[in-house]
Amino acid sequence: MTAYPIGVEVSCDGPDEQTDCPDSAAIRAGFASRTARQVRADGRADGWTTRRAPGRLRDVCPGCGRARQDGAR
Ligand SMILES: [Zn+2]
Repeated sequence: MTAYPIGVEVSCDGPDEQTDCPDSAAIRAGFASRTARQVRADGRADGWTTRRAPGRLRDVCPGCGRARQDGAR
């Protein structure tokens, strides 16, 4: 078995501040991705977006990004 450090998990912050992600999605980290920055880069390739919020970053999975746009109509 190969052990590698776990410790970077970038999970979806949901479509809204008060709403959890319906899919409980998280970015699948690539083999070489060890830091949050690297994992976010992996996520962008899959359609994830990062939004700036006061004091922190919010990571939004592709599903929630779409839901948000549809709901804005
Ligand atoms: Zn989500």
